[in-house]
Amino acid sequence: MKVDLLLRNARTVLVCDDESQVLSDASVAITDSVIVAIGSVTDLDAQVVAERVVELDGHILMPGLVNLHTHLPMTLLRGVAENVDLQGFLELVWAEEARVMDPVGVELGARLGAVEALLAGTTTALDMYFHPEAAHRGAVAAGLRHVIGPVFFSFPGPDGLSWEQRRELAASWAGTLEEIGGPFVPFVLMPHAPLTVEVEHLRELGEIARAHGGIINTHCSENDEENTQTIASRGLRPVDCLVAADVLPMAPVLAHGVRLDAGDRRKVAENNAAVAHCPGSNLKLASGAADVVGYRADGIRVGLGTDGCSTSNDLDMFAVMRLAANLARLVRNDPAAISAADVVRMATLEGARAIGMGDRIGSIEVGKEADLIAIDTRVPHLTPLRDPHTSVVFSAGRSDVRHVWVAGDQVVVDRVPVRIDVPELLAAADARVNA
Ligand SMILES: [Zn+2]
Repeated sequence: MKVDLLLRNARTVLVCDDESQVLSDASVAITDSVIVAIGSVTDLDAQVVAERVVELDGHILMPGLVNLHTHLPMTLLRGVAENVDLQGFLELVWAEEARVMDPVGVELGARLGAVEALLAGTTTALDMYFHPEAAHRGAVAAGLRHVIGPVFFSFPGPDGLSWEQRRELAASWAGTLEEIGGPFVPFVLMPHAPLTVEVEHLRELGEIARAHGGIINTHCSENDEENTQTIASRGLRPVDCLVAADVLPMAPVLAHGVRLDAGDRRKVAENNAAVAHCPGSNLKLASGAADVVGYRADGIRVGLGTDGCSTSNDLDMFAVMRLAANLARLVRNDPAAISAADVVRMATLEGARAIGMGDRIGSIEVGKEADLIAIDTRVPHLTPLRDPHTSVVFSAGRSDVRHVWVAGDQVVVDRVPVRIDVPELLAAADARVNA
């Protein structure tokens, strides 16, 4: 069999399927962006003739990480609001957004975020920010699988658009995605939160998304204050706003979901909605600790996210995996509360499923697109390698990611992003912020 690319002789392959299979001394063959064969190095050497071969001796090969909640352009706001409460935070962030985040700033920030994410092994990000077309252009240029759509507020948001203008953006969004190009992503609409989008508006967005076969992503129950304010202004808890708008049955991705009560949990589980758990952001802002183990036991799907750099300061999904594992064990007072393999699957296949892409990405299986990362294990902190899932969660870091492929294209080679001039990008980001 002739193939385009053979990733040969990986020390370990983490399949990240429902069984969390682990293969040793294995190869993966790719043609036209799709995985066409997986097997032992000797079997595949005998079966395939590859146009290109990348030797992965000493590496863990695993699916690229799926960041289920972020605001990539906010890389430009890194460090702008520290050690302040929510009100102080918003004042500082909004002032800086008004200063640097026009479409040019958004595109630049998204490109910076996409490069940071790719270098850290993230191949797909569910992003949320205004000027989504600018963000998409920036992130796609770096090679990221970038899932974004128009953001909605019931009042004029930071970009000053009216509801009607946002609706027009939504109506043309599928065309915008096609025009910009890049790896396949689903159509998504992004009501900011039930607190900031009225129930009737939520309902309208659900109808538009349904008509496009798309998904909904919203912030939901990030902290107690958000719940209190939503109840005060809408007379409903955030999850009940989504129920009232008939949006919850669309299995939306709920960013944070820290403060879900028993009723919320039952409804979220029944409707197959997913929580994007962001432990780094939740800890830093003292929002609370989502009971991820309990959620999963209730049947709620959980993926992992970094949140934006204005709150969590970086886009490191390896740090998020370790925080998620440790926090879940602390919350449950049980070192066996969650396994490293489960945490890795949350960061890969579960995240992919949450955005309706579980049949395309998130695991290393024949027929899936080749969104893959190679981790070099030939370093002290990954030696000896006993259980590779444990090593990935508790010992590895983003700087161990050596190669990254998105849809079969290698976008990071030997820790260097190949589509972007990084020194030029960093200089432009600095210049933008310091202007
Ligand atoms: Zn957020």
